[in-house]
Amino acid sequence: MSEAQYIFRMDDITPSMNWGRFWSVLNLLNRHRVKPLLGIVPDNQDPNLNCQKPDPQFWDTMRMLINKGLVDVAQHGYQHQLHIPKESALLKATHGATVERSEFTGLPYPEQLARLKKGQAILQDNGIYTSYFFAPNHSFDRNTLRALRAAGFTAVSDDVALFPFKSSGLLFVPQQLWTPKKMLTGVFTICLHTNEITPAKLRTIRQFLRMPVACTSFKTIAATYRDCTSRQLLNPLFKNAYLGARSIKTTIKTCRNLFTPNTDISCAEAHDVSPLIASAREP
Ligand SMILES: [Zn+2]
Repeated sequence: MSEAQYIFRMDDITPSMNWGRFWSVLNLLNRHRVKPLLGIVPDNQDPNLNCQKPDPQFWDTMRMLINKGLVDVAQHGYQHQLHIPKESALLKATHGATVERSEFTGLPYPEQLARLKKGQAILQDNGIYTSYFFAPNHSFDRNTLRALRAAGFTAVSDDVALFPFKSSGLLFVPQQLWTPKKMLTGVFTICLHTNEITPAKLRTIRQFLRMPVACTSFKTIAATYRDCTSRQLLNPLFKNAYLGARSIKTTIKTCRNLFTPNTDISCAEAHDVSPLIASAREP
């Protein structure tokens, strides 16, 4: 059995993200020779992601990181504008939580394709070319997948599985974790919401990276994917176990929240949180 491999993914990359936290995470990963997947929102219109004044050097910085080989990039939606879909999301229950808002789910195919292409055009106008995608709020439907194929996307960072798999003409590289955890085998994507990284989370990542763990990159996994029947047989077993565990965890959390105040840090509240000390801007 091959050892577990880990991909780090940094979500909600925009000109007005919390740059101090962005550099803290990126510098830490780069020090350990880990190349994360950055999810760039091409034209952010979600006020919850605005943590500071937009940096006019944003696109230059993104190109510099790509050209230095320090990051892979995915298109993360188009405007990150979340609506309440009329139809249920394809991935509504795959992470064991109810997804109520989506940028894509429920919209007609031509509209979804137009949104994807507008986002793609913004990236390309700024010299960034990628065929990787992940949707805001993990939420998309069959029309999104069809539109992704039509727009030339090849791989998606999402869904719950132990190993990457092909579906609907796209490669799915699963995303199962939000905090690093040592696993036995499989390919695990650890999703970090850049604006919400706390010093404690940073410490956890640092401790994880000091262990003998096999980190890889999204691009490497996508480039070396091979169909393997035994691995594909393990995927549904893992998914069932994962959803069962998440369901129990959610129930415990719900009960606990009935008696304790919510202390989660949202991006909208990030202004009020002491910023991490930003490392040098250039990694
Ligand atoms: Zn997002």
